[in-house]
Amino acid sequence: MEQYIVSARKYRPSTFASVVGQPALTSTLKNAIATDRLAHAYLFCGSRGVGKTSCARIFAKTINCENPGPDGEACNCCNSCNDFNEGRSLNIVELDAASHNGVDDIRAMIEQVQLPPTRGRYRVFIIDEVHMLSNQAFNAFLKTLEEPPS
Ligand SMILES: [Zn+2]
Repeated sequence: MEQYIVSARKYRPSTFASVVGQPALTSTLKNAIATDRLAHAYLFCGSRGVGKTSCARIFAKTINCENPGPDGEACNCCNSCNDFNEGRSLNIVELDAASHNGVDDIRAMIEQVQLPPTRGRYRVFIIDEVHMLSNQAFNAFLKTLEEPPS
């Protein structure tokens, strides 16, 4: 039986090169990776469909790739890339703030932030629809956002 995958996931770009219309952003992110100058937090803003979540996921995968290519792209064949592409990477946690916008959701995530990566270099937390967080959730998150563990 063919596995059903929603089109938004099936056709989501999986490399920086396949992101359409965002060359300034993708080259900035690739340069940050190439020069090993990563900030501890990034905010992707823009209207619907421009590729915010896609770029965040590609960035998360690329900084954990074991054999990044000379073009700054993830190899898509190492253990870390495979785990990520199959949606079972422990290093990348996604929180959908549209449906999990409470202070308890953020506290649960903050607890996870304290754990170092099991494999690979970085743990990445992607908070989708972050503007939907409640005020209390934002306040609870602020300290961790400003001063995360290494
Ligand atoms: Zn890889």
